[in-house]
Amino acid sequence: YSVTGVQTCALPIFQVAEADTPLMQAFQEGKVRSWRRGEAASGAFGELMESLEARELLCAPLEFENTAFGVVALLNREARAFDQSQTQLLRVLATQAGVILEIGRLHRLVAGERSKLSAALQSLSGGVLMTDPAGQITMLNPLAAAWLDLQPEQAMGTSFRELASMAFTGLLEESLGTTDTVAGEIELKSGEAENFVQVRVDSMVDPEGRVLGKVAVMNDVTELRRIERMKTDFVSTVSHELRTPLTSIKAFARTLLREDVEWPRPKQVEFLHIIDTQCDRLTRLISDLLDISRIESGRALKLRWDEVNLADILASVAEEQRSYSGRHELTLELPEQLPRVAADRDKVAQIATNLVSNAIKYSPAGGQIHIKVSEESDRLIISVRDEGIGIPEDKLPSLFSRFYQVDSSSTRKIGGTGIGLFLVKHLTEAHGGEVWVESIPEAGSTFYFSLPKLTVAEREAQLSEG
Ligand code: ADP
Repeated sequence: YSVTGVQTCALPIFQVAEADTPLMQAFQEGKVRSWRRGEAASGAFGELMESLEARELLCAPLEFENTAFGVVALLNREARAFDQSQTQLLRVLATQAGVILEIGRLHRLVAGERSKLSAALQSLSGGVLMTDPAGQITMLNPLAAAWLDLQPEQAMGTSFRELASMAFTGLLEESLGTTDTVAGEIELKSGEAENFVQVRVDSMVDPEGRVLGKVAVMNDVTELRRIERMKTDFVSTVSHELRTPLTSIKAFARTLLREDVEWPRPKQVEFLHIIDTQCDRLTRLISDLLDISRIESGRALKLRWDEVNLADILASVAEEQRSYSGRHELTLELPEQLPRVAADRDKVAQIATNLVSNAIKYSPAGGQIHIKVSEESDRLIISVRDEGIGIPEDKLPSLFSRFYQVDSSSTRKIGGTGIGLFLVKHLTEAHGGEVWVESIPEAGSTFYFSLPKLTVAEREAQLSEG
């Protein structure tokens, strides 16, 4: 562009794409072409030569591997024909420029691809670590760095053998001896966090079969393992919970069947009452399990809407629960005028039964259990307060998760399945309400659930609006 006396902006030479110009011919034919004043110069090309006061022009194709991608042109304002050696020089220059430009293009392409690859690796939800064939780290993404407790910049170029996790280095070491995939699950501790990570190490192989290095892809399976463990625990606690009432039913039935003893009627009634209570317990547990399996399989809980009188439901729940425990004083406090609300009678009873039976279970020393209904402008709030063992503050957020049980020696002794509160939350939310809890360890807990103040028609209209 440094043509003396010519502004670079006055050089729109590459815009001259007319077919019969020397520029186009050089481009299309891949040969050096020349032009001199006096020869045909049509249209825009002629005007350009005129404006540049060019007397001579020499054009050579810029090409790479026999594909032209541009033209280099040499202008002369003097009438002095380009000679053979200048033509040859231009040819050589054009060839070299072609190679340099192609390298530049490839470089930009590679840099672009590299930055796309790096952005993809940075945002990947798994960890990736690459090494060269000798085992020196050539790349790792932020997640891999966090799991392996590494600073990415410092880790580059170091050997994987220096990594702290023996299990991880073991997998890479094993992979160095083979081109097959090596996979395993390892436990990685970084700071406070402990992760179960699934690792797959593969060889990066070029088309000629040469191993360029190793790539380890890591996936977090901590949540999966936690749920698996919870499910296994759940199966054993449920079996235990099923066996307890069954054992008691069996024992009292056998007692009543004894032929050598004539039980007086009050004793018989007492035993039958126990059998009846234990059957209720079994039924409740099984219906809770059925609801859980509905929720688990993504099927919505079916509610039978009705305008219900909460006072009746709560009174009968309290009555039933009172019969199970002699050590607790169950009280019920209701506003004078209690509006009827749209709800599923059985499900509301199930929610209240779960909360009241928990209140009894987790107050092993007895005490008062107070059920209260209060009214707000758009909802009713039902609370169940006990004077039991309470719940530590840090456990409160997990309380309504499925299979969750506060792990303490006192709760372990009490038993349970960890599904009651999960169901309470689901059932309440299916009614458009909320659940929450307040608790002071060693002093007691209050569980709340709300029900919107709606008629069945309003509720159905709301549901059909989605
Ligand atoms: P579980 O069958 O174990 O009782 P829930 O889902 O009903 O299952 O309760 C989950 C956990 O919440 C219980 O294991 C217990 O630790 C705690 N919890 C529930 N209700 C109370 C309460 N009223 N007082 C103290 N802890 C409670």
